[in-house]
Order: sequence, then C-alpha cells, then structure tokens
Amino acid sequence: MLVLNGNGHGIVNNLCVPSQVATDYALAGHSLVSATVLNSDLDDNGLSASVTAKMREWFGSSVDAWQHLRTYTIPYALPNQTSPAFDPPVQPLQIRDNIFVCGDHRTNGSINGAMQSGCLVAEEILRNWMPDVRLSAAS
Ligand SMILES: Cc1cc2nc3c(=O)[nH]c(=O)nc-3n(C[C@H](O)[C@H](O)[C@H](O)COP(=O)(O)OP(=O)(O)OC[C@H]3O[C@@H](n4cnc5c(N)ncnc54)[C@H](O)[C@@H]3O)c2cc1C
Repeated sequence: MLVLNGNGHGIVNNLCVPSQVATDYALAGHSLVSATVLNSDLDDNGLSASVTAKMREWFGSSVDAWQHLRTYTIPYALPNQTSPAFDPPVQPLQIRDNIFVCGDHRTNGSINGAMQSGCLVAEEILRNWMPDVRLSAAS
C-alpha cells in the first residue's frame, strides 16, 4: 500500500500508487504513481531526473516507460513533527467564546492525532452544553 524507503538514504522518502485505490485516477491500462521527496533544493527538472533515477534503481528498466506528469511542492504539508511533537502539552480546545478548534496541529500530525483532537473538542462541548449526552466508548 505504501512503499517506504527503508535504508534511510536516497531522494525518495515514500511512494504509493493511488490508482490502485481509485481506478479513475489513471487511464485504463495505466497506473498513477506518486513519489514523495522531503526538503529538496533541486528545481523541477533536477528533481524529476533524480526521482526517475531512484525509481529505476527500485523498479528496473520498466521505469523508462513511465511519464513524469506533475510536481507539487507542498510547504507545511504537516505540522512540526520535531520531538516532542508526539507527546505535546494539550493545546487549548477553546480559543474564544463558542469557538473551538481541533485538528492535527493541536496534537500531532497524524490521523490518530486529528481524531484525538476532534474527540477532545466533542467531549468538551458535550460536557459544557449537553451534559445529559454521554459519549459511548465506541464513539
Ligand atoms: C503526504 C501525507 C501523508 C500522510 N500519511 C499519513 C499516514 O500514513 N498516517 C497518518 O496517521 N497520518 C498521515 N498523514 C497526516 C494526516 O493525513 C493528517 O495529520 C490528518 O489528515 C490531519 O487531519 P485534520 O482533520 O487535522 O486536517 P486536514 O485533513 O488537513 O483537514 C482540514 C480540512 O479543512 C479544510 N479547510 C482548510 N481551510 C478551510 C477553510 N478556510 N474553510 C473550509 N475548509 C477549510 C481543508 O480543505 C481540509 O479538508 C499524512 C499527511 C500527508 C500530507
């Protein structure tokens, strides 16, 4: 499902094939491959060449038939993950009267962190405004 670069060096951090999940993401008979690079200073052409070379190392000459479609640069794709991001002090749930905030940036940059943050806010709202409603363990 997700190909991780396990040896810790080389330009590609991870790779996935989104068309395996949603077939509409590629033309019939083709696959959409997404390679993720972290913190590169290369321009688009240099990046594309380096990624292609790495892919050839991983997957062999079949990569010669691959076509580079697009490069997306995504600054701040995730909240700061540096230690101790996975054990942070709890960020305030309420920022103003009747305004609550939740999301990965309140806990840590993961689906688990985002869900935990959403749960904390939901519990806070229920505690304050709907004390008769109880969250079940499954929720
Ligand atoms: C490439 C990548 C790979 C990842 N892999 C993993 C993984 O393997 N495992 C894992 O646990 N986590 C992973 N994460 C992290 C995880 O996806 C996020 O931490 C999580 O989705 C954050 O959830 P969220 O609800 O806080 O924010 P988001 O999912 O970012 O949701 C915020 C939503 O708010 C919307 N929005 C923003 N501004 C406005 C506005 N002004 N008005 C209305 N809507 C707005 C956005 O469009 C978005 O839909 C990955 C993240 C990235 C980028």
